[in-house]
Amino acid sequence: MVKRLLQDLEGRFESLKTPFYYYDTDLLAETLSAIKNETDKRDGWHLHYAVKACANAKVLRQIQRAGFGADCVSGGEIRACLENGFPASEIVYAGVGKSDWEIELALEAGIQYFNVESIPELEVIAEIATRMNRVANVSFRINPNVGAHTHVNITTGLAENKFGIAKEDMLHVIRVAQAMPSVRFVGLHFHIGSQILQMDDFEALCHRINELQDQLEASGITEVHNINVGGGLGIDYQNPDGTPIPDFKSYFETYAKHLKLRPGQRLHFELGRAVTGQCGSLITRCLYVKQAKAKQFAIVDAGMTELLRPALYGALHQIQNLSAGQGTLDGVQQADGDGRQAAVKYDIVGPICESSDTFAKDFLLPETRRGDLLAIRSAGAYGETMASQYNCRELPKAYTTEEILH
Ligand SMILES: *Cc1c(COP(=O)(O)O)cnc(C)c1O
Repeated sequence: MVKRLLQDLEGRFESLKTPFYYYDTDLLAETLSAIKNETDKRDGWHLHYAVKACANAKVLRQIQRAGFGADCVSGGEIRACLENGFPASEIVYAGVGKSDWEIELALEAGIQYFNVESIPELEVIAEIATRMNRVANVSFRINPNVGAHTHVNITTGLAENKFGIAKEDMLHVIRVAQAMPSVRFVGLHFHIGSQILQMDDFEALCHRINELQDQLEASGITEVHNINVGGGLGIDYQNPDGTPIPDFKSYFETYAKHLKLRPGQRLHFELGRAVTGQCGSLITRCLYVKQAKAKQFAIVDAGMTELLRPALYGALHQIQNLSAGQGTLDGVQQADGDGRQAAVKYDIVGPICESSDTFAKDFLLPETRRGDLLAIRSAGAYGETMASQYNCRELPKAYTTEEILH
């Protein structure tokens, strides 16, 4: 496939009101087929895309057409999936706090199963299912107490995290569910965190699941039809052009090698970030360059309202000046030579009235001027979905490759 560089689209971006999201749907297509190449060759492996990473309607449709199911964490996400072509039977629903209306919506639609995170939640699902004269398929999210080498705010599989049911309580909750006529126990669910790049973490999860499966077998519990290992595979924020597609081969091979499935068991994955992260960029315009005492600020028209990750977890995204130079293959952009200095240090900040509204500090860009278009890269996951209207801002628009070229 011909690689289309972002700066080749600068002319097309020029007429659009900034800031906006741009999704490279060719890269998304390549990413989806790289995943399919790994999962299709293995029996009983299924991918449910984690919708919270990016719920843009055009992106959802493309993912659905590529044959993925969906992992939702709210009623709103279930609606978005139904509206964008996902059959209810391909939707699973997790989350520590499900409201009654969300449970009713999921039962009414007939989703594949709930990933249940506590006994009080199980009781409410059973009660609502009884009232609606339905049977709810439930899988239990077990907290595996497996750490992940990632940011503390995005680990989810430790005993201290709010997610899931302690592994010591697993047998008890399954027995409770098996005694409920309006509930059918269908499997186990895990999710240890996000932006994980060390395969050892996923291997540790496999070993833990193997232990738990042995315990279940010893207790005579055999109806574990689905093992859902969640998501978490990270992307290369440092070098989005060098690693546009995550290392799916190592990721899936880790599971193939270490996880012992029982005959007939289905294995579900719930990747989010690894699917959409690299295909999205936030396009913004430089409003002013401000020389302060000790620093130079490039003030842009996008802020934490469009991309919250830097303010929320100190995340660093590569930034490229599309009006002033070539790409960032090695992480440092080269100037075009139109009389600009090759590299100037900027703090790149947004317009929002918060000091945390900073995309990068002491970041090297070719000399940047008012009116330049900048791309904040690797923003396709946890970008548009986290946008807010703080400061009475408008929510950002989004465009796909097809829309930009036609
Ligand atoms: C967020 C989440 C995912 C996806 O995580 P990524 O790191 O984006 O792959 C999968 N499963 C559950 C339950 C989640 O909450």
